[in-house]
Amino acid sequence: MTTNALFVGHGTPMNAIEDNEFTDTWKTLGASITETAPRAILSVSAHWYTRGTGVTAMTNPKTIHDFWGFPPELNAVQYEAPGDPEIAELVKDVARPTLVQPDMNWGLDHGTWSVLKHMFPEAKIPVVQLSIDGTKTFAEHVALGNSLARLAKEHNVLLVGSGNVVHNLSMTQWHAGNTGFDWADRFDADAKEIMLDSPDRAESLLHHGDFRRAVPTPDHFLPLAYIAGAAAALGNHSVDVFNDQRTMGSLSMTGYQVSS
Ligand code: ZN
Repeated sequence: MTTNALFVGHGTPMNAIEDNEFTDTWKTLGASITETAPRAILSVSAHWYTRGTGVTAMTNPKTIHDFWGFPPELNAVQYEAPGDPEIAELVKDVARPTLVQPDMNWGLDHGTWSVLKHMFPEAKIPVVQLSIDGTKTFAEHVALGNSLARLAKEHNVLLVGSGNVVHNLSMTQWHAGNTGFDWADRFDADAKEIMLDSPDRAESLLHHGDFRRAVPTPDHFLPLAYIAGAAAALGNHSVDVFNDQRTMGSLSMTGYQVSS
């Protein structure tokens, strides 16, 4: 089995420099994936939210510290994976008719590097980021995820969606530890059922009774649409869940590994 796609709940940027149960899982996963030597990683991060779809096309993407109020150690982190302009070209090709613009300004934001730093600490695998076009419908994001499955299948590209299925920052409680509000547990559990059994039905989550509380803004949820779309297009695949956990009440760390 080869891992084709991952959805990762990235949580707080502090996970980048902490060692905890979530980052331990990321390390273990990364080590097993490294054995299948992905040609590149295509990351769809909640933190690159744009008008129109962009793909990083530089050879040496910079590490972007896109957060405020965190300790200096976090600002000192560098993730020096190379880019891969050839993969950026392929992304443009497979995404048609969606127009994908090459980008030379972005780089790797913390949605990407806070996770990859644990999974692939050597930073040898090239990383390309795809932006989330905020003007698209959920179905259009899923369709783009469908198209990207070809990169995984034909070019051994690892697709990574980095966000959080449940992400309500106005309701987080730092002292809640690794527990979730009942509505967060409920939404995350129902999302899990869909991801494991029928990722092609991911859009039904938009009509879930807890959707508005779990997903007050779309940015952290939409990376899931890409991984659900890729999983649906991969056909004969299996999905495993990891870090099936709510934290600070209103965040979920749940992740999915799609293999074929
Ligand atoms: Zn985030």
